[in-house]
Amino acid sequence: MQTGSDSTSYSPPPGNGILFQSGTPLVPGVCHGRCLILAGDEVLKEVRLTKTEDLAGERQRLQEAVVDVRESLQASARQIRDVLTEADEKIFPMYESLLEDPTLLARIEKFLQEGLTLPSALSMASASFQEEFQQIQDQYLRERLLDVQDVLLRLMDATRNAARGHVPEHAIPQDDNTPIVLVARELFPSQFLSAPLKRVRGIVCETGGPTSHTAILARALRIPMLVDVPAIQEQVTIQDTILLDCQAGLCYLNPAQDLLDQYALALQTSRRDAAQETSPPPVDDSPATQDGTVVHLRGNVTLFSEVPALHGAGIREVGLYRTEFMFLIRNSMPDEETQYRVLHRLVEGSRGAQVVIRALDIGGDKPLSYIQWDNELNPSLGWRGLRFLLTNPEFARTHLRAILRTCTAGNVKLLFPMVSDMGDLQRIKSLVQEAMDSLKADGIPYGCPPIGMMLETPSAVLSLERLLPHVDFASIGTNDLIQYLFAVDRGNGRVKQWYQQAHPIVLRLLGEICQTMAKFPEKDLEICGEMAGNLSLLPALLGAGLRNFSMNPAAIPAIRDRVRQLHLAQCQDLYQKICNTDTPEEVQTLLEQFPLDL
Ligand code: PEP
Ligand code: MG
Repeated sequence: MQTGSDSTSYSPPPGNGILFQSGTPLVPGVCHGRCLILAGDEVLKEVRLTKTEDLAGERQRLQEAVVDVRESLQASARQIRDVLTEADEKIFPMYESLLEDPTLLARIEKFLQEGLTLPSALSMASASFQEEFQQIQDQYLRERLLDVQDVLLRLMDATRNAARGHVPEHAIPQDDNTPIVLVARELFPSQFLSAPLKRVRGIVCETGGPTSHTAILARALRIPMLVDVPAIQEQVTIQDTILLDCQAGLCYLNPAQDLLDQYALALQTSRRDAAQETSPPPVDDSPATQDGTVVHLRGNVTLFSEVPALHGAGIREVGLYRTEFMFLIRNSMPDEETQYRVLHRLVEGSRGAQVVIRALDIGGDKPLSYIQWDNELNPSLGWRGLRFLLTNPEFARTHLRAILRTCTAGNVKLLFPMVSDMGDLQRIKSLVQEAMDSLKADGIPYGCPPIGMMLETPSAVLSLERLLPHVDFASIGTNDLIQYLFAVDRGNGRVKQWYQQAHPIVLRLLGEICQTMAKFPEKDLEICGEMAGNLSLLPALLGAGLRNFSMNPAAIPAIRDRVRQLHLAQCQDLYQKICNTDTPEEVQTLLEQFPLDL
């Protein structure tokens, strides 16, 4: 499993607590904290309807739940603002006003008056709102259903926690640092961002993949994450503590003190250290191989909180800034000014170093809570990435205007995700032109950045030579390219054996991309999927012809050291041998035999 860190020298201490489960580590590290169990919205549907005579008691429970939810929303908003620059104080107030909404409260009251218990009334209210909202044509109003459901889910959580005698999450004092481990069946990015991030030390889930956006976000925040732990959310309560060893892939329930003592050093070094996050931007330190081939290293940035780690790794250039998180953490679309403010800070902080801003890549495993996705059967094949932008020209214009305005503050390149053919390119380029025209008409300064496309659909790769004249650069998104090449869900652990970075088909394709790009020497090619930070594949990627790598900042130091050990001719020789194989196992054997003792 590629985790972005080389942990082969690590061995876990012998167990003396309850070795509870094993799983697959997605983000390395060791952590210990109290369980915070996060439910999905199935909770609203799965209620067995029950009745009660005690109307007054149920009303009292509702009032208490409203107070609980309000407090937890306020706490979340405060903490998100502190942890994430992408956030601002506008994230949660809409939920708070919904909590007081007379229509919502009257609907719950109606079902309580029919004699239902509070959980049953919440479930019925959810079903009835759903039915009503489905009739509405207006998209904005339809989107409000998701907010209503979200608030009902939060009320349900609060009610159930209170009924079980659990300590409500917000009741953990805000000013102590009670560490928390998030426990969920599958954790969606928006759920993760609603959690008390400052205290989140780890994540453990029943399911989740290494390139899911929750994993990417967890990696960005350096929060250890363990998945493939069966039925974990059913086996713990919020009174339990859990120790995650995301090096060895182990998890211990209520660990004894002597086990914690054995892990003390690992727990300390895994802890996120705010103090080290203030170094000034360095001069880029891109390495060369033994024979002098320069390899450009850049950082993938999902959150501003990663920028100091990038600078700490000796790199200033951002090869991929994923814009989605400023959208994911809000309850409505941020306006042009908000987007501009967030992007401008990144560009300005890069002090002239190149920043590749990727236009919004929403959908797939990153649905927005305020957009109705109509239960797509195949979200990764659906309304995501560029398709979302092209079918929302109004939104695209706002988004593009915000990006184009930031170009005046630094060295920005604009990258489009999920391009699948010439039509996509033509349409998005004309939207860029329209955004420029409107800025000009409004007298607002803007820049004309180089425009690039991500290579993540097989159709774009197959028509690369015809598409390249229409862009300034290309960036290979191997996370999705592998997903679409093999028709294998990148986030589904059950089919992970079909999702192989080290597959000869993938490596041959990368070589072919490099050959096509060589016909356009003035255009840059970069690789920015997780594969770019895969240490063992580095010689093969260099052998294939890649020279620009953008990766998770944590992977940079090890990649830089390895580049300096390599000889290009040997990498090319390795690559040729790989091209003659058929299976990932054969590739693995060749990689293991590759000389690294140079
Ligand atoms: C990719 O698909 O490789 C990529 C870099 O984009 P994302 O992981 O954000 O989909
Ligand atoms: Mg992608």
